[in-house]
Amino acid sequence: MSAQSQFPDADSVSNRTNLSAQQLRYAFLIAELERHNRLYHEQDAPEIADSEYDALAREARALEAEHPDWVELGTSPAQAVGGAPSTAFVSVDHPSPMTSLDNVFDDAELLGFQEKLARSLNVAPEGAQFAYACELKIDGLSVNLYYKGGVLQWAATRGNGVSGEIVTAQVLTIAGLPQKLEGLTGELEVRGEVYLSREEFAAFNARAEELGSAPLKNPRNGAAGALRQKDPEVTRMRNLSALFYSLGKRDGVNVKTQWEALGWLRERGFPVSEYSRQVGSIEEAVQYHADLLAQRSELPFDVDGTVIKLDDLHLQAESGFTSRAPRWAIAYKFPVEQARAVLESVSINVGRTGKLAPLAHLSPRLIEGSTVSRATLHNEDFIRNLDLRVGDTVVVHKSGGVIPEILRVVPELRPEGAQPFAFPEECPVCSFPAVREEGDANRYCTNPDCPAKLEEALRYFVSRGALDIRGLGEKLITQLLAAGLVKDAADFYALSAGQLAGLERGGDKKAANLLAQLGGSKAKPLWRLINALGMAGVGDRGSKALARTFGSLDALLQATPEQIEAVPGMGGVLAVSITAELAGDRLQSLIPRLRAAGLGEVAGETEIRTGELAGLNFVLTGSLTRPRDALKAALEARGGRVTGSVTGKTSYLIAGEDAGSKLARAQELEIPVLDEAGLSALLAEKGAVGLE
Ligand SMILES: [Zn+2]
Repeated sequence: MSAQSQFPDADSVSNRTNLSAQQLRYAFLIAELERHNRLYHEQDAPEIADSEYDALAREARALEAEHPDWVELGTSPAQAVGGAPSTAFVSVDHPSPMTSLDNVFDDAELLGFQEKLARSLNVAPEGAQFAYACELKIDGLSVNLYYKGGVLQWAATRGNGVSGEIVTAQVLTIAGLPQKLEGLTGELEVRGEVYLSREEFAAFNARAEELGSAPLKNPRNGAAGALRQKDPEVTRMRNLSALFYSLGKRDGVNVKTQWEALGWLRERGFPVSEYSRQVGSIEEAVQYHADLLAQRSELPFDVDGTVIKLDDLHLQAESGFTSRAPRWAIAYKFPVEQARAVLESVSINVGRTGKLAPLAHLSPRLIEGSTVSRATLHNEDFIRNLDLRVGDTVVVHKSGGVIPEILRVVPELRPEGAQPFAFPEECPVCSFPAVREEGDANRYCTNPDCPAKLEEALRYFVSRGALDIRGLGEKLITQLLAAGLVKDAADFYALSAGQLAGLERGGDKKAANLLAQLGGSKAKPLWRLINALGMAGVGDRGSKALARTFGSLDALLQATPEQIEAVPGMGGVLAVSITAELAGDRLQSLIPRLRAAGLGEVAGETEIRTGELAGLNFVLTGSLTRPRDALKAALEARGGRVTGSVTGKTSYLIAGEDAGSKLARAQELEIPVLDEAGLSALLAEKGAVGLE
């Protein structure tokens, strides 16, 4: 029975006499999709093949694209999360086009923009003064959310500006987007930018590096890739964010300025950038741009400039469009920070997983206010694709203002006789063969007892994000290894004061401190221990998720790949590699020895969800006396959440010396601001343990 040949059963739809044949077909498709979903997901007894299901869903979505008003969002299985993966995205016309903006690159060009704007409004350019809305140009992907009668019909990518692809289920993985807007009748388009925060970008790439999968080139590619995932659950794992900044069609929304439109969006529950400002003149817009440029690297997401929009919507309409872009808005782009440097050498580090990680050593160059002398080279393919040779002059770029990367070689400056870089085929530390599996971009040392792996694993075990054992520095670990006192992390717990005092210059007192630290580490939360095991691809976030889900080391050890895959943020590849590592020789030997030393007894469901600060959101700013990581960890340990930017949801801003825009923003939103003493008082008031 082919899915296409089925037609509505007359009885089941006879009470819907006013419906057209197409509507009947649509109603039938929805009913069928729902039935097959139940068979598939609840009864595990599918009647049709995936391809047949896809054909039904495709047909339903095509009808939905043609008749967006038929879609009852959240009830349409053709769009729904949990439906069978679709095979293609359906395209849809934007009710009003999503134009792109013209760019300017310096202040003079920006003044030129205002001159042309003034002329289009029949205002003398010399005396012209307009109010503008200044907004961040976030480096993400534009989307259009279309509402009818106050109900979200679809969300689509910008596409070519005239039509885009429907990605409703993918966009709805972003928490908190309103699907219903009370009191609205006609059509409404809400435009915004979907992006990957720098934190999520870094987390994704750290995991990709460890798993040997392809890293994201930049957060923008990451956002685009996540949005175009057929399976919205994959999108959800990428933790996309969005900020909304404009209205297209806006029936019944009574706003007169862009600034009011932003306020309206915020009021209706859309995430709106806290960095936007209304300014009274183009000179103030220039200042806004300069300020933004100065704090660019501190922003939680990549920004490539300022968008400056004429604030008055009536004047916007009057000034109109050129053939390409609106006359009333402009993108003032940041200069692209690049520099030329000479590749002086390439070093290879061996990580705790045995991965050979190449690092470029460059002649030092100042980029975006900081000196760059090293850049990641990712893996041997990256080096080969660039045809990188020692002595080459290269173009270095700081992507997102954070990670220096080599973009290309300048071939005309290549010194004579420069040889292609030969990536080592053996471990530079232990000389065992370093092999590369098919489909993996990385090479790994094959020696299970490689000293480099062991040393890195020990360092990781005691590091701040793992068991956080102070006093066990890199130097001491090297000494302990050299003296043969430690062969794996469990040996730390067998050390005596005498052995330590013999190595440390500080003698008895330091040794006693360290033993106390080691003792204390046994009572630390489960996620720290899981992280300390150093499994590939499992960082602190993954460890927290595993600890929350399984609650004990035993339960984790018994987990199947399927159970691990079901943990938020885990994927199939990672789940398989985790179970393989847990069953592998290294951890099968280490874990029982750690338990014998008294670790792993603490229950897992601790730090994160409960705690005295649960439900409170903190933002840290300014220079604080404690390292920011440590303070963040301390707040999280007590159940608080620490985020990057001040929003209406922020409970407290913890401000140190020289706090800047975040402090101003908090004051504007009337959010309580605490210094460190105030934070201590808050902890005492909540009955939480004070900060050490
Ligand atoms: Zn090795």
